[in-house]
Amino acid sequence: MVVHETLLSRLKDKTLVVEAAKVGSKWAQNAADGTRFDVVNPATGEVLASLPALSAEDARQAVVDAKQAQKLWAKRTGKDRSVVLKRWHQLWIDNADDLALILTCEQGKPLAEARGEILYGASYLEWFAEEAKRIYGDIIPSHAENLRILVMKQPVGLVGAITPWNFPNAMIARKVAPALAVGCAMVAKPAAETPLSMLALAVLADRAGIPQGLFSVITARSSSEFGKEMTSNPDVAKITFTGSTEVGRILMRQGADQIKKLGLELGGNAPFIVFDDADIDAAVDGAMAAKYRNAGQTCVCANRIYVQSAIYETFVEKFSAKVSELKVGNGLDAGVTIGPLINAASVAKVREHIADALDKGGEIVVGGGVSDLGPLFVEPTVIRGATATMAVSREETFGPLAPVFRFETVEEVIALANDTEFGLSGYFYARDMARIFRVAEALEVGIVGVNTGLISTEVAPFGGVKQSGLGREGSRYGADDYLEIKYVCLGGQEV
Ligand code: ADP
Repeated sequence: MVVHETLLSRLKDKTLVVEAAKVGSKWAQNAADGTRFDVVNPATGEVLASLPALSAEDARQAVVDAKQAQKLWAKRTGKDRSVVLKRWHQLWIDNADDLALILTCEQGKPLAEARGEILYGASYLEWFAEEAKRIYGDIIPSHAENLRILVMKQPVGLVGAITPWNFPNAMIARKVAPALAVGCAMVAKPAAETPLSMLALAVLADRAGIPQGLFSVITARSSSEFGKEMTSNPDVAKITFTGSTEVGRILMRQGADQIKKLGLELGGNAPFIVFDDADIDAAVDGAMAAKYRNAGQTCVCANRIYVQSAIYETFVEKFSAKVSELKVGNGLDAGVTIGPLINAASVAKVREHIADALDKGGEIVVGGGVSDLGPLFVEPTVIRGATATMAVSREETFGPLAPVFRFETVEEVIALANDTEFGLSGYFYARDMARIFRVAEALEVGIVGVNTGLISTEVAPFGGVKQSGLGREGSRYGADDYLEIKYVCLGGQEV
Protein backbone atom coordinates (compact mmCIF):
# COMPACT_ATOMS: atom_id res chain seq x y z
CA MET A 1 0.00 0.00 0.00
CA VAL A 2 1.57 3.27 -1.05
CA VAL A 3 -1.56 5.45 -0.83
CA HIS A 4 -0.33 8.92 -0.04
CA GLU A 5 -0.96 10.58 3.30
CA THR A 6 -2.56 13.68 1.64
CA LEU A 7 -5.34 11.45 0.47
CA LEU A 8 -5.50 8.87 3.20
CA SER A 9 -5.59 11.24 6.14
CA ARG A 10 -8.56 13.17 4.75
CA LEU A 11 -10.76 10.27 3.66
CA LYS A 12 -13.74 9.35 5.80
CA ASP A 13 -13.81 5.87 4.25
CA LYS A 14 -10.27 4.76 3.49
CA THR A 15 -11.44 1.61 1.69
CA LEU A 16 -12.52 3.73 -1.28
CA VAL A 17 -8.93 3.98 -2.48
CA VAL A 18 -7.86 0.64 -3.86
CA GLU A 19 -4.59 -0.36 -5.46
CA ALA A 20 -6.15 -3.16 -7.45
CA ALA A 21 -8.26 -3.53 -10.59
CA LYS A 22 -11.70 -5.07 -10.95
CA VAL A 23 -11.33 -7.85 -13.50
CA GLY A 24 -14.71 -9.47 -14.03
CA SER A 25 -15.82 -10.88 -10.72
CA LYS A 26 -12.43 -10.54 -8.99
CA TRP A 27 -10.26 -7.77 -7.63
CA ALA A 28 -6.76 -8.21 -9.11
CA GLN A 29 -3.97 -6.93 -6.86
CA ASN A 30 -1.20 -7.65 -9.35
CA ALA A 31 -0.58 -7.98 -13.06
CA ALA A 32 0.58 -11.43 -14.22
CA ASP A 33 4.04 -10.03 -14.92
CA GLY A 34 4.07 -7.91 -11.76
CA THR A 35 4.27 -4.55 -13.53
CA ARG A 36 2.65 -1.53 -11.89
CA PHE A 37 2.26 2.16 -12.58
CA ASP A 38 1.95 5.18 -10.34
CA VAL A 39 -0.90 7.65 -10.06
CA VAL A 40 0.52 11.11 -9.44
CA ASN A 41 -1.08 14.23 -7.96
CA PRO A 42 -0.59 16.88 -10.70
CA ALA A 43 -0.58 19.70 -8.13
CA THR A 44 2.29 18.37 -6.05
CA GLY A 45 4.00 15.61 -8.05
CA GLU A 46 3.41 13.19 -5.13
CA VAL A 47 2.77 9.55 -5.96
CA LEU A 48 -0.79 8.89 -4.74
CA ALA A 49 -1.06 5.17 -5.36
CA SER A 50 0.34 2.27 -7.35
CA LEU A 51 -1.81 0.11 -9.61
CA PRO A 52 -1.36 -3.12 -11.55
CA ALA A 53 -0.57 -2.52 -15.22
CA LEU A 54 -2.88 -5.12 -16.72
CA SER A 55 -2.67 -6.66 -20.17
CA ALA A 56 -5.05 -7.63 -22.96
CA GLU A 57 -5.29 -11.07 -21.34
CA ASP A 58 -6.93 -9.51 -18.26
CA ALA A 59 -9.36 -7.56 -20.43
CA ARG A 60 -10.23 -10.86 -22.15
CA GLN A 61 -10.98 -12.46 -18.79
CA ALA A 62 -13.21 -9.54 -17.87
CA VAL A 63 -15.09 -10.04 -21.13
CA VAL A 64 -15.67 -13.74 -20.32
CA ASP A 65 -17.15 -12.87 -16.90
CA ALA A 66 -19.13 -9.93 -18.27
CA LYS A 67 -20.70 -12.03 -20.99
CA GLN A 68 -22.12 -14.43 -18.43
CA ALA A 69 -23.23 -11.71 -16.05
CA GLN A 70 -24.90 -9.76 -18.85
CA LYS A 71 -27.16 -12.61 -19.90
CA LEU A 72 -28.60 -12.90 -16.39
CA TRP A 73 -28.80 -9.13 -15.90
CA ALA A 74 -30.69 -8.59 -19.15
CA LYS A 75 -33.29 -11.15 -18.08
CA ARG A 76 -34.12 -9.23 -14.91
CA THR A 77 -36.98 -6.75 -15.09
CA GLY A 78 -36.34 -3.09 -15.70
CA LYS A 79 -37.71 -2.33 -12.27
CA ASP A 80 -35.33 -4.80 -10.68
CA ARG A 81 -32.32 -3.28 -12.44
CA SER A 82 -33.58 0.14 -11.44
CA VAL A 83 -33.61 -0.79 -7.76
CA VAL A 84 -29.99 -1.98 -7.86
CA LEU A 85 -28.83 1.12 -9.75
CA LYS A 86 -30.62 3.37 -7.27
CA ARG A 87 -28.70 1.74 -4.44
CA TRP A 88 -25.47 2.50 -6.29
CA HIS A 89 -26.67 6.08 -6.80
CA GLN A 90 -27.38 6.51 -3.10
CA LEU A 91 -23.90 5.27 -2.15
CA TRP A 92 -22.40 7.60 -4.75
CA ILE A 93 -24.17 10.56 -3.09
CA ASP A 94 -23.43 9.38 0.47
CA ASN A 95 -19.72 9.21 -0.37
CA ALA A 96 -19.58 12.42 -2.42
CA ASP A 97 -17.01 14.10 -0.16
CA ASP A 98 -14.57 11.22 -0.41
CA LEU A 99 -15.12 10.76 -4.13
CA ALA A 100 -14.48 14.50 -4.64
CA LEU A 101 -11.28 14.33 -2.63
CA ILE A 102 -9.98 11.38 -4.65
CA LEU A 103 -10.89 13.22 -7.84
CA THR A 104 -9.11 16.44 -6.89
CA CYS A 105 -6.00 14.57 -5.77
CA GLU A 106 -5.61 12.65 -9.02
CA GLN A 107 -6.99 15.18 -11.49
CA GLY A 108 -6.24 18.60 -9.99
CA LYS A 109 -9.56 20.47 -10.27
CA PRO A 110 -10.71 22.54 -7.27
CA LEU A 111 -12.53 20.53 -4.62
CA ALA A 112 -15.84 22.38 -5.12
CA GLU A 113 -15.72 21.58 -8.85
CA ALA A 114 -14.86 17.97 -8.07
CA ARG A 115 -17.87 17.72 -5.79
CA GLY A 116 -19.99 19.20 -8.56
CA GLU A 117 -18.69 16.52 -10.92
CA ILE A 118 -19.56 13.73 -8.46
CA LEU A 119 -23.14 14.97 -8.17
CA TYR A 120 -23.35 15.50 -11.93
CA GLY A 121 -22.09 11.93 -12.50
CA ALA A 122 -24.56 10.59 -9.95
CA SER A 123 -27.40 12.37 -11.74
CA TYR A 124 -26.86 10.10 -14.78
CA LEU A 125 -27.21 7.06 -12.60
CA GLU A 126 -30.43 8.37 -11.12
CA TRP A 127 -31.81 9.33 -14.51
CA PHE A 128 -31.06 6.00 -16.16
CA ALA A 129 -32.15 4.01 -13.11
CA GLU A 130 -35.54 5.59 -13.78
CA GLU A 131 -35.33 5.06 -17.54
CA ALA A 132 -34.63 1.34 -16.97
CA LYS A 133 -38.40 0.97 -16.47
CA ARG A 134 -39.30 2.83 -19.66
CA ILE A 135 -37.53 1.02 -22.47
CA TYR A 136 -40.66 0.86 -24.59
CA GLY A 137 -41.14 -0.97 -27.86
CA ASP A 138 -43.80 -0.27 -30.45
CA ILE A 139 -46.70 -1.84 -32.29
CA ILE A 140 -46.83 -0.51 -35.84
CA PRO A 141 -50.09 -0.53 -37.83
CA SER A 142 -49.64 -3.44 -40.18
CA HIS A 143 -49.48 -3.48 -44.00
CA ALA A 144 -51.45 -6.75 -44.14
CA GLU A 145 -54.59 -7.96 -42.36
CA ASN A 146 -53.11 -11.24 -41.06
CA LEU A 147 -49.84 -9.73 -39.85
CA ARG A 148 -48.90 -7.77 -36.78
CA ILE A 149 -45.71 -5.72 -36.61
CA LEU A 150 -43.90 -5.45 -33.30
CA VAL A 151 -40.75 -3.54 -32.44
CA MET A 152 -38.77 -4.56 -29.41
CA LYS A 153 -35.70 -2.95 -27.91
CA GLN A 154 -32.96 -5.19 -26.56
CA PRO A 155 -29.58 -4.44 -24.96
CA VAL A 156 -26.65 -4.49 -27.42
CA GLY A 157 -24.81 -6.77 -24.96
CA LEU A 158 -21.30 -6.28 -23.71
CA VAL A 159 -19.80 -2.80 -24.04
CA GLY A 160 -16.13 -1.78 -23.84
CA ALA A 161 -15.57 1.73 -22.47
CA ILE A 162 -12.52 4.01 -22.61
CA THR A 163 -12.64 7.29 -20.71
CA PRO A 164 -10.37 10.35 -20.43
CA TRP A 165 -8.75 12.03 -17.42
CA ASN A 166 -10.61 15.36 -17.46
CA PHE A 167 -13.83 14.05 -15.83
CA PRO A 168 -12.79 10.77 -14.18
CA ASN A 169 -16.18 10.34 -12.53
CA ALA A 170 -18.71 11.86 -14.91
CA MET A 171 -17.39 10.35 -18.15
CA ILE A 172 -17.79 6.78 -16.90
CA ALA A 173 -21.10 7.71 -15.25
CA ARG A 174 -22.52 8.82 -18.59
CA LYS A 175 -21.63 5.44 -20.08
CA VAL A 176 -22.15 2.88 -17.35
CA ALA A 177 -25.52 4.26 -16.21
CA PRO A 178 -27.42 3.83 -19.50
CA ALA A 179 -25.55 0.62 -20.34
CA LEU A 180 -26.47 -1.15 -17.12
CA ALA A 181 -29.97 0.34 -17.02
CA VAL A 182 -30.96 -1.26 -20.32
CA GLY A 183 -29.31 -4.61 -19.53
CA CYS A 184 -25.77 -4.36 -20.91
CA ALA A 185 -22.48 -5.17 -19.14
CA MET A 186 -19.39 -2.94 -19.25
CA VAL A 187 -15.65 -3.51 -19.27
CA ALA A 188 -14.08 -0.10 -18.75
CA LYS A 189 -10.60 1.35 -18.82
CA PRO A 190 -9.97 4.66 -17.07
CA ALA A 191 -7.21 7.00 -18.24
CA ALA A 192 -3.89 6.00 -16.67
CA GLU A 193 -3.63 9.48 -15.11
CA THR A 194 -6.90 9.22 -13.15
CA PRO A 195 -7.98 5.62 -12.45
CA LEU A 196 -8.73 5.97 -8.72
CA SER A 197 -12.12 7.65 -9.21
CA MET A 198 -13.48 4.80 -11.35
CA LEU A 199 -12.07 2.19 -8.99
CA ALA A 200 -13.86 3.87 -6.07
CA LEU A 201 -17.09 3.59 -8.04
CA ALA A 202 -16.40 -0.11 -8.55
CA VAL A 203 -16.02 -0.52 -4.77
CA LEU A 204 -19.41 1.15 -4.32
CA ALA A 205 -20.89 -0.99 -7.13
CA ASP A 206 -19.94 -4.10 -5.14
CA ARG A 207 -21.59 -2.66 -2.04
CA ALA A 208 -24.73 -1.76 -3.99
CA GLY A 209 -25.11 -5.32 -5.21
CA ILE A 210 -24.27 -4.74 -8.86
CA PRO A 211 -23.80 -8.36 -9.98
CA GLN A 212 -20.22 -9.58 -10.08
CA GLY A 213 -18.69 -9.42 -13.55
CA LEU A 214 -21.11 -6.79 -14.82
CA PHE A 215 -18.76 -3.83 -14.39
CA SER A 216 -15.01 -4.27 -14.76
CA VAL A 217 -12.36 -1.60 -14.30
CA ILE A 218 -9.16 -2.55 -16.07
CA THR A 219 -6.16 -0.48 -15.03
CA ALA A 220 -3.43 -0.26 -17.63
CA ARG A 221 -0.68 2.04 -18.64
CA SER A 222 -1.11 1.28 -22.32
CA SER A 223 -4.53 2.16 -23.66
CA SER A 224 -3.83 0.91 -27.14
CA GLU A 225 -3.63 -2.72 -26.02
CA PHE A 226 -7.03 -2.43 -24.33
CA GLY A 227 -8.47 -0.66 -27.39
CA LYS A 228 -7.20 -3.42 -29.68
CA GLU A 229 -8.68 -6.13 -27.49
CA MET A 230 -12.09 -4.44 -27.32
CA THR A 231 -12.24 -3.76 -31.06
CA SER A 232 -11.16 -7.30 -32.02
CA ASN A 233 -12.96 -9.40 -29.40
CA PRO A 234 -16.15 -10.75 -31.02
CA ASP A 235 -17.93 -10.85 -27.66
CA VAL A 236 -17.71 -7.08 -27.33
CA ALA A 237 -20.78 -5.64 -29.06
CA LYS A 238 -19.93 -1.99 -28.82
CA ILE A 239 -17.16 0.42 -27.84
CA THR A 240 -17.95 3.70 -26.17
CA PHE A 241 -15.09 6.18 -26.07
CA THR A 242 -14.59 9.72 -24.83
CA GLY A 243 -11.32 11.34 -25.81
CA SER A 244 -9.50 12.84 -28.75
CA THR A 245 -10.69 12.70 -32.36
CA GLU A 246 -7.34 11.12 -33.23
CA VAL A 247 -7.91 8.12 -30.95
CA GLY A 248 -11.55 7.96 -32.08
CA ARG A 249 -10.27 7.47 -35.64
CA ILE A 250 -7.93 4.69 -34.49
CA LEU A 251 -10.77 2.83 -32.76
CA MET A 252 -13.00 3.24 -35.79
CA ARG A 253 -10.30 1.79 -38.06
CA GLN A 254 -9.63 -1.07 -35.66
CA GLY A 255 -13.31 -1.84 -35.30
CA ALA A 256 -13.96 -1.88 -39.05
CA ASP A 257 -13.29 -5.61 -39.49
CA GLN A 258 -16.11 -6.55 -37.14
CA ILE A 259 -18.32 -3.54 -37.94
CA LYS A 260 -18.03 -2.73 -34.26
CA LYS A 261 -20.69 -0.35 -33.02
CA LEU A 262 -19.20 2.88 -31.75
CA GLY A 263 -20.24 5.66 -29.45
CA LEU A 264 -17.70 8.48 -29.72
CA GLU A 265 -17.48 11.72 -27.77
CA LEU A 266 -14.49 13.41 -29.34
CA GLY A 267 -12.75 16.76 -29.49
CA GLY A 268 -14.35 20.14 -29.91
CA ASN A 269 -13.38 23.65 -30.93
CA ALA A 270 -16.32 25.55 -29.48
CA PRO A 271 -17.09 29.06 -30.71
CA PHE A 272 -18.45 31.48 -28.08
CA ILE A 273 -20.11 34.40 -29.85
CA VAL A 274 -21.19 37.67 -28.26
CA PHE A 275 -23.50 39.78 -30.44
CA ASP A 276 -23.87 43.51 -29.94
CA ASP A 277 -27.43 43.16 -28.55
CA ALA A 278 -26.24 40.80 -25.79
CA ASP A 279 -26.26 41.41 -22.07
CA ILE A 280 -22.49 41.90 -21.81
CA ASP A 281 -22.19 41.13 -18.10
CA ALA A 282 -24.11 37.88 -18.56
CA ALA A 283 -21.88 37.05 -21.55
CA VAL A 284 -18.77 37.64 -19.43
CA ASP A 285 -20.07 35.28 -16.75
CA GLY A 286 -20.98 32.70 -19.38
CA ALA A 287 -17.52 32.96 -20.96
CA MET A 288 -15.87 32.50 -17.55
CA ALA A 289 -17.84 29.30 -16.97
CA ALA A 290 -17.47 27.96 -20.49
CA LYS A 291 -13.75 28.73 -20.70
CA TYR A 292 -12.19 28.29 -17.28
CA ARG A 293 -14.08 25.38 -15.73
CA ASN A 294 -11.57 22.57 -15.06
CA ALA A 295 -8.77 24.99 -16.08
CA GLY A 296 -10.05 24.91 -19.65
CA GLN A 297 -9.76 21.14 -19.93
CA THR A 298 -13.24 20.21 -21.13
CA CYS A 299 -14.34 19.11 -24.58
CA VAL A 300 -17.12 21.74 -24.55
CA CYS A 301 -14.75 24.55 -23.50
CA ALA A 302 -15.13 27.85 -25.32
CA ASN A 303 -12.04 27.68 -27.52
CA ARG A 304 -12.66 30.77 -29.68
CA ILE A 305 -14.43 33.84 -28.31
CA TYR A 306 -15.92 36.04 -31.06
CA VAL A 307 -17.15 39.49 -30.04
CA GLN A 308 -18.99 41.92 -32.32
CA SER A 309 -17.04 45.08 -33.07
CA ALA A 310 -19.22 47.65 -31.24
CA ILE A 311 -18.88 45.91 -27.88
CA TYR A 312 -15.42 44.36 -28.34
CA GLU A 313 -13.48 46.74 -26.10
CA THR A 314 -16.08 46.68 -23.31
CA PHE A 315 -16.24 42.90 -23.36
CA VAL A 316 -12.44 42.45 -23.32
CA GLU A 317 -12.14 44.88 -20.42
CA LYS A 318 -14.86 43.27 -18.28
CA PHE A 319 -13.84 39.72 -19.13
CA SER A 320 -10.16 40.36 -18.40
CA ALA A 321 -11.04 41.92 -15.04
CA LYS A 322 -12.87 38.74 -14.07
CA VAL A 323 -10.08 36.48 -15.35
CA SER A 324 -7.53 38.37 -13.28
CA GLU A 325 -9.54 37.46 -10.16
CA LEU A 326 -9.12 33.70 -10.73
CA LYS A 327 -6.97 32.03 -8.12
CA VAL A 328 -4.50 29.41 -9.33
CA GLY A 329 -3.33 26.71 -6.92
CA ASN A 330 -3.72 23.27 -5.43
CA GLY A 331 -7.38 22.27 -5.77
CA LEU A 332 -7.44 21.21 -2.13
CA ASP A 333 -6.73 24.76 -0.94
CA ALA A 334 -9.64 27.04 -0.08
CA GLY A 335 -10.51 29.69 -2.64
CA VAL A 336 -8.60 28.10 -5.52
CA THR A 337 -10.53 28.30 -8.81
CA ILE A 338 -7.91 27.03 -11.27
CA GLY A 339 -5.93 23.88 -10.59
CA PRO A 340 -2.90 22.49 -12.41
CA LEU A 341 -3.05 21.06 -15.92
CA ILE A 342 -2.87 17.29 -16.16
CA ASN A 343 0.66 16.91 -17.57
CA ALA A 344 3.64 18.58 -19.19
CA ALA A 345 2.32 18.01 -22.73
CA SER A 346 -0.84 19.99 -21.88
CA VAL A 347 1.25 22.86 -20.53
CA ALA A 348 3.43 22.81 -23.65
CA LYS A 349 0.37 23.00 -25.91
CA VAL A 350 -1.01 26.09 -24.12
CA ARG A 351 2.41 27.75 -24.27
CA GLU A 352 2.67 26.95 -27.99
CA HIS A 353 -0.75 28.50 -28.62
CA ILE A 354 0.19 31.64 -26.68
CA ALA A 355 3.54 31.99 -28.49
CA ASP A 356 1.93 31.43 -31.88
CA ALA A 357 -0.81 33.99 -31.15
CA LEU A 358 1.75 36.60 -30.06
CA ASP A 359 3.80 35.87 -33.15
CA LYS A 360 0.78 36.59 -35.33
CA GLY A 361 -0.13 39.92 -33.77
CA GLY A 362 -2.16 38.96 -30.69
CA GLU A 363 -1.68 40.89 -27.45
CA ILE A 364 -1.81 39.53 -23.92
CA VAL A 365 -4.33 41.35 -21.72
CA VAL A 366 -4.07 39.09 -18.66
CA GLY A 367 -1.71 36.24 -17.71
CA GLY A 368 0.59 34.68 -20.27
CA GLY A 369 3.36 34.10 -17.77
CA VAL A 370 4.76 31.09 -16.00
CA SER A 371 3.30 30.34 -12.60
CA ASP A 372 5.78 29.82 -9.78
CA LEU A 373 3.49 27.27 -8.09
CA GLY A 374 4.90 24.29 -9.98
CA PRO A 375 5.53 22.97 -13.49
CA LEU A 376 1.88 22.17 -14.29
CA PHE A 377 0.32 25.48 -13.29
CA VAL A 378 -0.53 27.89 -16.09
CA GLU A 379 -1.74 31.46 -15.58
CA PRO A 380 -5.24 32.07 -16.91
CA THR A 381 -4.65 34.11 -20.04
CA VAL A 382 -6.65 36.41 -22.31
CA ILE A 383 -5.35 37.37 -25.74
CA ARG A 384 -6.94 40.18 -27.74
CA GLY A 385 -6.63 40.67 -31.47
CA ALA A 386 -6.96 36.97 -32.22
CA THR A 387 -7.21 36.00 -35.91
CA ALA A 388 -8.12 32.98 -38.03
CA THR A 389 -4.46 32.34 -38.93
CA MET A 390 -3.59 31.44 -35.33
CA ALA A 391 -3.35 27.85 -34.10
CA VAL A 392 -5.93 28.66 -31.38
CA SER A 393 -8.55 29.17 -34.03
CA ARG A 394 -8.11 25.65 -35.48
CA GLU A 395 -6.92 23.46 -32.60
CA GLU A 396 -8.43 22.63 -29.24
CA THR A 397 -6.21 24.37 -26.63
CA PHE A 398 -7.46 22.38 -23.63
CA GLY A 399 -6.09 24.93 -21.20
CA PRO A 400 -6.86 28.31 -19.57
CA LEU A 401 -6.23 30.47 -22.64
CA ALA A 402 -9.01 32.66 -24.09
CA PRO A 403 -8.38 34.22 -27.50
CA VAL A 404 -10.83 37.02 -28.29
CA PHE A 405 -11.62 37.57 -31.99
CA ARG A 406 -13.43 40.63 -33.41
CA PHE A 407 -16.22 40.28 -36.01
CA GLU A 408 -18.58 42.61 -37.87
CA THR A 409 -21.60 40.72 -39.25
CA VAL A 410 -23.77 37.72 -38.41
CA GLU A 411 -22.91 35.98 -41.73
CA GLU A 412 -19.21 36.48 -41.09
CA VAL A 413 -19.25 34.99 -37.60
CA ILE A 414 -21.37 32.00 -38.61
CA ALA A 415 -18.88 31.21 -41.36
CA LEU A 416 -15.96 31.60 -38.93
CA ALA A 417 -17.64 29.50 -36.23
CA ASN A 418 -18.33 26.65 -38.67
CA ASP A 419 -14.89 26.73 -40.27
CA THR A 420 -13.63 23.69 -38.35
CA GLU A 421 -13.83 19.92 -38.66
CA PHE A 422 -15.19 19.80 -35.09
CA GLY A 423 -18.84 20.18 -34.14
CA LEU A 424 -19.42 19.45 -30.49
CA SER A 425 -20.73 22.61 -28.82
CA GLY A 426 -21.17 26.30 -29.53
CA TYR A 427 -22.38 29.24 -27.45
CA PHE A 428 -23.77 32.65 -28.23
CA TYR A 429 -25.22 35.63 -26.42
CA ALA A 430 -27.92 37.71 -28.10
CA ARG A 431 -31.35 39.09 -27.24
CA ASP A 432 -33.02 39.41 -30.62
CA MET A 433 -35.37 36.42 -30.92
CA ALA A 434 -35.13 36.10 -34.69
CA ARG A 435 -31.35 36.17 -34.49
CA ILE A 436 -31.37 33.53 -31.76
CA PHE A 437 -33.20 31.02 -33.95
CA ARG A 438 -31.17 31.82 -37.02
CA VAL A 439 -27.82 31.37 -35.30
CA ALA A 440 -28.89 28.31 -33.26
CA GLU A 441 -29.93 26.64 -36.51
CA ALA A 442 -26.83 27.70 -38.44
CA LEU A 443 -24.17 26.51 -36.00
CA GLU A 444 -22.82 23.12 -37.07
CA VAL A 445 -22.64 21.59 -33.60
CA GLY A 446 -24.53 19.04 -31.52
CA ILE A 447 -25.05 21.32 -28.52
CA VAL A 448 -25.84 25.05 -28.47
CA GLY A 449 -25.79 27.23 -25.37
CA VAL A 450 -27.82 30.42 -25.92
CA ASN A 451 -27.28 33.04 -23.21
CA THR A 452 -25.67 30.40 -21.01
CA GLY A 453 -22.17 29.01 -20.68
CA LEU A 454 -23.18 25.78 -18.96
CA ILE A 455 -24.97 23.20 -21.05
CA SER A 456 -24.30 19.81 -19.46
CA THR A 457 -27.19 18.00 -17.78
CA GLU A 458 -28.31 14.39 -17.62
CA VAL A 459 -31.74 15.27 -19.01
CA ALA A 460 -30.42 16.54 -22.37
CA PRO A 461 -28.66 14.71 -25.22
CA PHE A 462 -24.91 15.43 -25.25
CA GLY A 463 -22.90 14.70 -28.38
CA GLY A 464 -21.27 16.09 -31.47
CA VAL A 465 -21.64 16.35 -35.23
CA LYS A 466 -18.87 16.38 -37.89
CA GLN A 467 -15.63 14.93 -36.47
CA SER A 468 -16.73 15.44 -32.86
CA GLY A 469 -18.39 12.08 -32.60
CA LEU A 470 -21.20 9.60 -32.96
CA GLY A 471 -24.17 9.06 -30.68
CA ARG A 472 -25.58 10.90 -27.69
CA GLU A 473 -25.14 10.57 -23.95
CA GLY A 474 -27.85 11.48 -21.44
CA SER A 475 -31.61 11.99 -21.86
CA ARG A 476 -34.00 9.40 -23.26
CA TYR A 477 -31.95 9.44 -26.48
CA GLY A 478 -28.92 8.24 -24.49
CA ALA A 479 -30.53 4.88 -23.79
CA ASP A 480 -30.81 4.23 -27.55
CA ASP A 481 -27.03 4.07 -27.82
CA TYR A 482 -27.09 0.81 -25.84
CA LEU A 483 -30.13 -0.73 -27.50
CA GLU A 484 -30.80 -2.70 -30.65
CA ILE A 485 -34.12 -2.49 -32.42
CA LYS A 486 -35.68 -5.82 -33.34
CA TYR A 487 -38.68 -6.01 -35.63
CA VAL A 488 -40.95 -9.01 -35.21
CA CYS A 489 -43.39 -9.80 -37.97
CA LEU A 490 -46.20 -11.86 -36.45
CA GLY A 491 -48.03 -13.84 -39.13
CA GLY A 492 -51.12 -16.07 -39.18
CA GLN A 493 -53.33 -13.70 -37.25
CA GLU A 494 -57.08 -14.18 -37.59
CA VAL A 495 -58.75 -11.60 -39.78
P1 ADP B 1 -6.86 13.22 -24.22
O1 ADP B 1 -6.29 14.26 -25.12
O2 ADP B 1 -8.12 13.60 -23.53
O3 ADP B 1 -5.85 12.56 -23.32
P2 ADP B 1 -6.88 10.73 -25.63
O4 ADP B 1 -7.78 10.37 -26.75
O5 ADP B 1 -5.42 10.70 -25.86
O6 ADP B 1 -7.42 12.15 -25.19
O7 ADP B 1 -7.19 9.84 -24.37
C1 ADP B 1 -8.50 9.49 -23.98
C2 ADP B 1 -8.49 8.07 -23.52
O8 ADP B 1 -8.13 7.23 -24.61
C3 ADP B 1 -7.49 7.76 -22.41
O9 ADP B 1 -8.04 6.81 -21.54
C4 ADP B 1 -6.33 7.19 -23.18
O10 ADP B 1 -5.55 6.37 -22.35
C5 ADP B 1 -7.06 6.40 -24.25
N1 ADP B 1 -6.25 6.08 -25.45
C6 ADP B 1 -5.18 6.73 -25.94
N2 ADP B 1 -4.70 6.12 -27.04
C7 ADP B 1 -5.50 5.04 -27.28
C8 ADP B 1 -5.54 3.99 -28.28
N3 ADP B 1 -4.67 3.95 -29.27
N4 ADP B 1 -6.51 3.07 -28.18
C9 ADP B 1 -7.42 3.12 -27.18
N5 ADP B 1 -7.44 4.07 -26.24
C10 ADP B 1 -6.50 5.02 -26.26
